[in-house]
Amino acid sequence: TDVQELLLSRIRDVADYPEPGVMFKDITPLLADPAAFTALTDALAEIVVRTGATKVVGLEARGFILGAPVAVRAGVGFIPVRKAGKLPGATLSQTYDLEYGSAEIEVHAEDLSAADRVLVIDDVLATGGTAEASLQLIRRAGAQVAGLAVLMELGFLAGRARLEPALDGAPLEAL
Ligand code: IMP
Repeated sequence: TDVQELLLSRIRDVADYPEPGVMFKDITPLLADPAAFTALTDALAEIVVRTGATKVVGLEARGFILGAPVAVRAGVGFIPVRKAGKLPGATLSQTYDLEYGSAEIEVHAEDLSAADRVLVIDDVLATGGTAEASLQLIRRAGAQVAGLAVLMELGFLAGRARLEPALDGAPLEAL
């Protein structure tokens, strides 16, 4: 579609970042273009409405930039899922494996309840490890998963297949 063409044209490929052999998808040109950023926000807000989500969870850090305007546009609350040690209140945390070592993400426990239907938003789905941990966090908090929405899915890393159990039938939308 025209929107997809616009979004794709504003994503920059950066070779060998953050390490040799990686082609990094840089969304800063998209953020700097108000037409593209607005189109992206509108498309993601439409997914909030379509999935019946009552909360948006944004994944640190680019999921914050994309998720916050989407939550405002859709008229739902925004909840940050952060790297461990950044949230001041009582948290739930989830550890997940990286290629080398592990990582941990957290959410404020009081921000999620059984009444919530949550759409998770991030910029890029790669291996799916980060998204998977966030979905586990949401379910452990007792909330429902409305879905996962990303700007871009790196299909060759097979994140979609990895996420099937954690999504448990909820949609994965990659614009
Ligand atoms: P995953 O956990 O392997 O799916 O990696 C996804 C996380 O890493 C997301 O939070 C992304 O923001 C980030 N990420 C991985 N690859 C890229 C990229 O090429 N561009 C921007 N972010 C990326």
